[in-house]
Amino acid sequence: MSLIKKITCHVVSAPVERPFTSSRGWLYKQRGSCIVEIETADGVVGWGECYGPSQVARAYIESQYGPRIIGRDAFDVEVIWEDLYNRIKDYGSKGMAISALSGIDIALWDIIGKVCGKPIHKLIGGAYRTEVQSYATGLYFIDMDRLIEEAVEEAQEYVAQGFTAIKMKIGLGSPKLDIERVRAVREAIGGDVRLMVDANHCFTVPAAIKLGRELEKLDVEWFEEPISPEDLDGYVEVTRALDMAVAGGENEFTRWGFRDIVTRKAMDIVQPDVCAAGGISECRKIATLAAAHGVECVPHAWGSAIGLAATLHFLAALPDQPPSFRPMPPLLEFEQCENPFRDLLTVDPIVQVRGVVQIPTAPGLGIEVKRDVLDRYRVV
Ligand code: CA
Repeated sequence: MSLIKKITCHVVSAPVERPFTSSRGWLYKQRGSCIVEIETADGVVGWGECYGPSQVARAYIESQYGPRIIGRDAFDVEVIWEDLYNRIKDYGSKGMAISALSGIDIALWDIIGKVCGKPIHKLIGGAYRTEVQSYATGLYFIDMDRLIEEAVEEAQEYVAQGFTAIKMKIGLGSPKLDIERVRAVREAIGGDVRLMVDANHCFTVPAAIKLGRELEKLDVEWFEEPISPEDLDGYVEVTRALDMAVAGGENEFTRWGFRDIVTRKAMDIVQPDVCAAGGISECRKIATLAAAHGVECVPHAWGSAIGLAATLHFLAALPDQPPSFRPMPPLLEFEQCENPFRDLLTVDPIVQVRGVVQIPTAPGLGIEVKRDVLDRYRVV
């Protein structure tokens, strides 16, 4: 038994030197997170992370979930998940209620791994792979007077750093400008670097199809969030119309949310986030559901080293989709915008070499959290 003694939310925030934006239009002026710490009666500490507005995640945990899990066995991780979900679902079966639950689930898996002396991926099916190819997420909109030049420079920088795949933002309010910018990046990085685009759901169905056909000519591998996530019928239309893969799902939650996407094959690739969609336990179920319907699962990741490590363990234990002589394993989203919590929060930062990231092998998440970094950027 590993009885849960205490749960603490560390809400942290750090300013961004060069604020950036996407098609959503709001400016990212700071990076923040709700980091969850769970301690057992034996003194084992597990870490988790919640995606989205950190004060909201904290409120869910402190007022709803925390009191219900004190005194319970961390090894009952899925029993706890079902209990917390069923307690909250009448008020929030999606969104921040599930992000908050995700942070608890990840922290419990970290505890289980540490008690067993095994990395998490060895406890959720095993290592299909010991390393993963990553792609750099970046190429946001920063300097509005140098949108194309800046994108080209940033893409070249990622290639120089060793990345072999890049995802860029589109949705500048002018499809012509979007195409011009993607073309400039494609020409700059050459034909061997994989390139994806992310519209953050800013297009209508006809606009997305029209733009998608042009992007196909530039060998874009997937078109992420072309249209609004609420419009599943629209996703079916866009996915059927385009030859390129259509991806989405970073703002969907739980097996029930993803069920409707995958049973209709509304997307070719679903992108659950382990820190949002329900944690490692729930993302395993989502991936299985997707595989049963022939939909690829390539997780979304946009957070601290804790979320990144959780994503790596999830990726390590994902079967090849499909198995083959030389399979195409799922990629790690390795976001590259300024974020001290990704780069400084752990003793050994997660890094890529030639685009490849090693799956942590130490027990639990396999990372050591630096408390002084939490203290330095603590909001509450
Ligand atoms: Ca995205």
